[in-house]
Amino acid sequence: MLDEAKEKLQHHFGYETFLNGQENILHHVMQRQSVLGIMPTGGGKSVCYQIPSLLLPGITIVISPLISLMKDQVDEAREAGIPATFINSSVSHGEMRERMEALRRGECRLLYVAPERLSNQEFLYQLQSIPVSLTAVDEAHCLSQWGHDFRPAYLEIPRFLSFTGSSAAVLALTATATPQVAEDISHALDIPEDQVVKTGFARENLTFSVVKGQNREAYIVDYVKKRKNQPGIIYANTRKEVEKLWEMLHKEGLSVEKYHGGMETAEREAAQERFVYDDVTVMAATTAFGMGINKSNVRYVLHARTPRNIESYYQEAGRAGRDGAPGDCTLLFSPQDAGTHQFLIDQSQLEEDRKDKEYRKLRQMIHYCHTEDCLQNEMLRYFGEEPQEPCGRCLNCTDDRTLEDVTEEAQMVFSCVKRMRERFGKVMTAQVLAGSSNEKIRTLKLHTLTTYGLMKNRTQKDVAAFIDFLAAHAYLSLSDGAYPVLRLTNAALDVLRGEARVMRKETLTAETVSTEDPL
Ligand code: ADP
Ligand code: ZN
Repeated sequence: MLDEAKEKLQHHFGYETFLNGQENILHHVMQRQSVLGIMPTGGGKSVCYQIPSLLLPGITIVISPLISLMKDQVDEAREAGIPATFINSSVSHGEMRERMEALRRGECRLLYVAPERLSNQEFLYQLQSIPVSLTAVDEAHCLSQWGHDFRPAYLEIPRFLSFTGSSAAVLALTATATPQVAEDISHALDIPEDQVVKTGFARENLTFSVVKGQNREAYIVDYVKKRKNQPGIIYANTRKEVEKLWEMLHKEGLSVEKYHGGMETAEREAAQERFVYDDVTVMAATTAFGMGINKSNVRYVLHARTPRNIESYYQEAGRAGRDGAPGDCTLLFSPQDAGTHQFLIDQSQLEEDRKDKEYRKLRQMIHYCHTEDCLQNEMLRYFGEEPQEPCGRCLNCTDDRTLEDVTEEAQMVFSCVKRMRERFGKVMTAQVLAGSSNEKIRTLKLHTLTTYGLMKNRTQKDVAAFIDFLAAHAYLSLSDGAYPVLRLTNAALDVLRGEARVMRKETLTAETVSTEDPL
């Protein structure tokens, strides 16, 4: 079976060997066993259902969340000589019948549909007379409430699978699966644990950095100028900001396009084409840009704003260096971004426990921005992988500042948190330690604590930054919810008892963290 698959790989795609994970996935799929494939962006997921579509007796259905990409996906498959088609709301009734007819006759092997289609009676009726061998679920994390992109329509999938019957296997694919999300997908689609194929998330050619305390605009201009002829993507969170970035870079005479949801479809598509075909070097975009775009020579992904969680960040940053050549992934952190995300979660219509999950993910993102450990490893840990040797490339690995012993200051913070009965957040704790005397402190009688003003030789901002550092290193934990409170972890208790010391790299700049940071 695998020989046949390899032959197809060579014939249709021109590759001699499988990428990590592909062979294993195909092995299961060809035996009609269900599989969950977790591979990073650019890992070669499409081949895992395109090849079986050529070899299995019945057709292969691909469930894909993005209607706008379906045509491209089909074109790509056809270019590789795989007879493919799609059915979505842009396809007329008559045309749909014709396409179904082509599938029935076996002229077409691969069908892309949006999840909404799965509950369409006409579609199901037509499908009754067409044998299905494989259902591939693209972007399978959309199934999970824990995922960063939950789509209710994905919940139709299990029912659809029982409709296609037991002779069809399911292949769930995603690039972003934390252990929780993987568990959700396996559970919903009934995939046994030993049929989960996960390839490493480490990307040897990517260099991660988090930059703090810089003038954002000046930094971006300088960054892009330094990489003048290198294709790169700059992500911002809002349309307005994309416009601003575009204008700023354009004024500097740089070759830049823009992409966001406020633009006309045709205009957006033209911008995308120009970027993909190297007619323009830089793309300033909202995160609407990039999913499914196959441009392998992106040399950097610069995040002008902090993303809302690590999954999104990993997926977006992972668009750099898909050709295996070096790629730079830099994130500009500012505490205000965190505040904005927090506000958006607050204001959202999400249910309470869903909100708590979002807060937690946001906190993990912020933790990533503050950690002094290897950033690649930080990411691996988040995705439930064993950390490896530090990557030696990221900003934290290449940072050669010396370590200082900050045990005493850490003890001051910990005793203060304890005295405040683990009932307050970072801002209040920093105020008490720095000896700030605002009304709230006095009303709550916090100025009578023995730890009040213990760090009054430092600014409140400094103390807050130090608390961030302690939280990033898991000495302090933050409770869930909109107003997280600081708690001591066992590691902090060890330090309080004098059984462990706390080391920190010399501080770089004073502006790294401001007290506006709500988390
Ligand atoms: P994903 O969907 O996981 O992001 P794709 O399916 O788009 O990744 O594949 C990424 C790139 O890797 C594509 O250009 C694809 O042609 C290429 N690719 C797929 N399989 C192989 C292989 N076995 N050897 C080399 N390149 C491959
Ligand atoms: Zn590193």
